[in-house]
Order: sequence, then C-alpha cells, then structure tokens
Amino acid sequence: MNYQLLLENIYNEVQSIENTGKVADYIPELAKVNPEKFGISLVDSTGNIFEVGDTKETFSIQSISKVLTTAIIFAKEGNELWKRVGFEPSGNAFNSLIQLEYEKGIPRNPFLNAGSLVIADLMLDHFDDPKKYFLNFVRTLAENPTIQSNESVAQSEMESGFRNAALVNFIKSFKNIKNAPEDVLDFYYFQCAIEMTTTDLAKCFRVFANQGLIPNTDDLFLTKSQCKRMNALMQMCGFYDQAGEFTFKVGLPGKSGVGGGVVALLPNQYTVTVWSPKLNKKGNSFYGLEVLERLTTETGTSIF
Ligand code: GLN
Repeated sequence: MNYQLLLENIYNEVQSIENTGKVADYIPELAKVNPEKFGISLVDSTGNIFEVGDTKETFSIQSISKVLTTAIIFAKEGNELWKRVGFEPSGNAFNSLIQLEYEKGIPRNPFLNAGSLVIADLMLDHFDDPKKYFLNFVRTLAENPTIQSNESVAQSEMESGFRNAALVNFIKSFKNIKNAPEDVLDFYYFQCAIEMTTTDLAKCFRVFANQGLIPNTDDLFLTKSQCKRMNALMQMCGFYDQAGEFTFKVGLPGKSGVGGGVVALLPNQYTVTVWSPKLNKKGNSFYGLEVLERLTTETGTSIF
C-alpha cells in the first residue's frame, strides 16, 4: 500500500485541531525544543519509507528507550526477568512511586520509570560498557551509525531528577537494585537522552513487527514468544495511565516519550513514528495520538 497520500492528509487534517498540549519542562534542556515541530514516518514490512513534516531532525526519545533496554534484557534473561519486574499495567503516572511499597520494590512493569531503573541495573550487570552496547544496538536497528546520546539532556536530567533518585534508592532498599544508584541513573539518563529522527525510530521498532528478527539481517533477536510479549507490554503499559485510551482509540502496541515521540506498530505490516513535542496531561504527545487514531481508523488496520 502507498501510505504517502494518507499521511499527508492526516498531517494537514490534524494541524487544524487546536493543540492544547505543553512541552515537557521538568527536564530544563527539553523545554528548549520548538513546540511546533511535527513529523510522521511510516516504514512498511518491506522497508519502504513514507515521511511527512519534520522527519530529518532528531529528538530526544526519552521513555521510548525503555522498550529497547527491556527487550535486550528479556533476550538475555528470558522469563527469569519477571522476578525483578512485573508485566501488569499500572494505571499510574510514569514516575509514580506509589505501588512500590506494597509490591516490595518489584515495579509493576518495565516501562514505568521504576521498572526501567531495574532494567538499567540489569544492563550494568550484563555489559562491561552498557552505554556503548546500547548505542551500537540502536544504531544497528536504525541502520544509522550517526545516532548519539545528548550529554546536555542527560546532564540536565541528572541535575533535576530528584524523583528518579528517590525511586532508585527506594527500590534498592528492597534489594532489587544491585549497583550503585548513581551508576544506574547515569545509564538511565544516557538511554533516555538518545536522539533520533522519526524515520530512525520507526526503523528501530521494525524488529517488533518482524517477529523478533532484525530486518535485513534476519538475525534472531527475540523468539516469537518474546516478541509477542514485548508487543503485549507496549499495548498494556506503553502509555502509562492512558494505555486504555490509546488501545481504545488506536489499537496498536506502542510507546511514548516526554520528548514528544510516539512509536506504534502493526505486526507484519508497518511501524510508525510521530514527533510533536506538545504533551497532553498524561505526558503523551497530543498530536501523536490524533495522528495514530486517524491512521488506524482510515486504513481499517489495528490488532483488534
Ligand atoms: N527521562 C524521563 C524521566 O525519567 C523519561 C520519562 C518519559 O519519557 N515518560 O522522567
């Protein structure tokens, strides 16, 4: 299918809706982003790329990185992983501390900050140089060796991330963090500060639409069952306390980040990324949701 005209129509249509979202400013460096940026990239199962708007500029992927680190650790640990982190939707905000006390330091899922900090701890255990490994991994998936992590964004978050510091220390008090809290945070901010274009990100997520095989190489990264589970996690937990609404309106597994990126996929068909930095009250891109709702409605495609 040629998605180009469809994306262009959606791109124009969505801009006539008043965007009541706001750029994330709790990380000072992210507040500097131009709020009007807007781009959409779709990559189909054979690798054809369809782009509209600001698809050549990089943005901070933030929480979208959590899917990639989780997949790396799931591939390494298999189902042992679920002893350290759960797989249930949370119904709480991404940075919530509330469930941790009565769940004894086992975060409810790996896409909450709490869960992703446990995954970051495991990245430190599995790799001598986890930053280098992770960067190479995303460069391979995106087929783009120029991808970088933005040091100023990571530094800015390190200086303002009191909540994440609280989370990692609290989890450590339950012995579910093994490494030094500052090392875990240092890696976590590095992964969140990775910058990509919408097209890079859509390419990165093709592995989840391709039954766990890395496209073009056909290297097995995840088993079919693990790939199914990663998609299930994205469906249930990818949008925090808006996961239900995203499922209701869009019907695809996906993930958002406070940099304004949203990525979603239809297994065996396509991956799609939207970047628009103004976020709704739940921390998800306002236009991102609008675009994806139209895409699945107008094509009649969703996993349901
Ligand atoms: N780095 C951000 C944080 O820890 C990621 C949050 C997000 O994108 N939802 O707060």
